[in-house]
Amino acid sequence: MGQGGLRLKGSVVRADGQTGADAWEVTTGMTTVRAQCPTCHDVQLGIDDLTVRVCADDSSGSYRFMCPTCDQVVDRPASGRIVELLLSAGAHHETWTWPAELGERPAGPPLTPDDLLDLHMVLQSPRWFEDLVALVRRGTPE
Ligand SMILES: [Zn+2]
Repeated sequence: MGQGGLRLKGSVVRADGQTGADAWEVTTGMTTVRAQCPTCHDVQLGIDDLTVRVCADDSSGSYRFMCPTCDQVVDRPASGRIVELLLSAGAHHETWTWPAELGERPAGPPLTPDDLLDLHMVLQSPRWFEDLVALVRRGTPE
């Protein structure tokens, strides 16, 4: 097997992340993951402490864990091969999608610098909220 791939050594499967920074070992029965925290560097985790996340929109993978030393949540990118390996070792799995707003375009004309100036003027009034509500109810005259 080539660089950055899976190497079989006895009953231990070892994988190195593309950056070479992350590695984990899978032994029969018990799985220990050695991962990198940006603050604490090498940390040891159980496979249960790690969640694999796959984006349904672009199939990109990552994994997330809470560092046992500093309690910081660490999120790292993972290639498809690493995602498969972690899942086969029993890691939790989550699928997520981009926010729906990314695919929606609001109706109406785009905001102009004049609109922004008008809003700025409205906000000068202590009754700005009522004024704004009245404006929206009336619709923009033109
Ligand atoms: Zn840490």
